[in-house]
Amino acid sequence: MDKKRLEISDLGEFGLIDRIAGNFSIKNRSTLKGIGDDAAVLDAGDEAILISTDLLVEGIHFDLAYTPLHHLGYKAVAANVSDIAAMNGKAEQITVSIALSNRFSVDAVDALYEGIKAACDSFTVDLVGGDTTSSRAGLMISITVLGRAKKEKVVYRNGAKPNDIICVTGDLGGAFMGLQILEREKEVYLSNPAMQPEIEKYEYMVGRLLKAEARTDIVADLAEQGVIPTSMIDISDGLASELFHLSKQSNVGIHIFEDKIPIDHQTYDAAIEFKLDPITCALNGGEDYELLFTIAQADYEKLKNHADIHMIGYTNDKPAEKIMVSKQGTVVPLKAQGWNHFAG
Ligand code: ADP
Ligand code: MG
Repeated sequence: MDKKRLEISDLGEFGLIDRIAGNFSIKNRSTLKGIGDDAAVLDAGDEAILISTDLLVEGIHFDLAYTPLHHLGYKAVAANVSDIAAMNGKAEQITVSIALSNRFSVDAVDALYEGIKAACDSFTVDLVGGDTTSSRAGLMISITVLGRAKKEKVVYRNGAKPNDIICVTGDLGGAFMGLQILEREKEVYLSNPAMQPEIEKYEYMVGRLLKAEARTDIVADLAEQGVIPTSMIDISDGLASELFHLSKQSNVGIHIFEDKIPIDHQTYDAAIEFKLDPITCALNGGEDYELLFTIAQADYEKLKNHADIHMIGYTNDKPAEKIMVSKQGTVVPLKAQGWNHFAG
């Protein structure tokens, strides 16, 4: 009898990771946390070593038609450093592996590493190794980052308690709008190469996409204020998706307010111009690399005046409940992907 082949798309990325993880168990006492957080956590006495890895594939994660290689190098490092920040740790070393087709020149590799070096300088990280190989087509970059934190300061995705305050840093949806803008300009250029791209007025969003930063400053500010978040994750796949991760792993419900979600006015205006709903862009747009975390109510006073930390709602003891109160006061269920503003 024919058995239908199980497609990867039937499981999705997270379903696939769960399936892989389900077949492995931890055998070493030194492995404090394995698969399932922004970084794995290894025992190093009073301290914990944090380790995370990321693979970027040309045509999937970046388009060299509009991504300068030095920005790509910087961003590849920043994305990894962000995963260490999401554990409340400090990144210290990276290894960088690249696969290149013969389309790339030495100058191209130099440009890529110029960006990697700039990020190593800016985040005080050492490049300590890697691997270099050829590819049939395109460029692939895999970075592994090692970080460190005092054991009791490591923050996981699973520590949120009911009635914690949900916080996000910076503003959201900008990188997603940057992508829309660059994709549009690429289409215009392909249909008429004489046209000059018109991106100056969109500089902010394009910068959010191409020049991603990791919020190491927030990790420092939290330490200075003496606040250890109860849970934390970085926003690489979109606020809604990351809220689902916190909810699932911490077993709490999510109650956020639309009017508290930080959106830069330039992102807002660009979304309207593109006939997109700004709040959908903020909820589901990826690659902002901001931090999403929860704090105990007792820590509210310590962070309430921080200019770049926004309190967007609270957790509750109903894990099945993941809702947003709209500006009109209606209750809208959050969806991990493609929330439709007009559906509620
Ligand atoms: P992030 O978005 O923070 O980088 P991911 O969603 O990529 O995290 O991964 C979630 C968890 O699954 C992490 O702990 C990661 O190390 C793990 N993971 C992802 N892919 C694999 C894989 N192919 N094999 C083992 N673990 C994986
Ligand atoms: Mg992450």
